[in-house]
Amino acid sequence: MTPVPGVSLGFRRQSSSPEPAACPCGGGAYGSCCGPSIAGQQLAVTAEQLMRSRYSAFALWARDPEAIEYLLRTHPETGQTAAARRKALKESCRNLQWLSLKVLDCQNGSPLDQYGTLTFEARWRDRDRREGVLRECSRFGRGESGEWIYLEALSLGDGPADRKPPQSPATTPP
Ligand SMILES: [Zn+2]
Repeated sequence: MTPVPGVSLGFRRQSSSPEPAACPCGGGAYGSCCGPSIAGQQLAVTAEQLMRSRYSAFALWARDPEAIEYLLRTHPETGQTAAARRKALKESCRNLQWLSLKVLDCQNGSPLDQYGTLTFEARWRDRDRREGVLRECSRFGRGESGEWIYLEALSLGDGPADRKPPQSPATTPP
């Protein structure tokens, strides 16, 4: 294959598909990492897979309409219509670009567990080109059909994160 400039950025320039070659979560090729989950072709087997695929969905929302639906589906909430949640989510996504993900710690969350918690760092850049790192501990559980879902962000206290973005990658905005 002839190298094209787009490849170095992680995206295939010549492809008719909007699918990136490299997964935003850093876990390898998108098509064998978070892609199938976001496309609804398979369910996350572990809490870490779900967390990574949600991060990737946040990173890719602008180019993949399925990404927003995936974020809504993997974080069920009552009291708000899907349309209202979709609108709020898109508005929050517009403000931040997600640059990279690092998983720091994982407690439980295996295929046999009912719950799991993950601590991660996600680098972001905002519209004014300011950059920072979000450090968060997220809690995951099982949905109605036994699938992994995102439950909530747990407090980390005063972590080493240098700057907090207006929205967390794992949190649906109010
Ligand atoms: Zn991935």
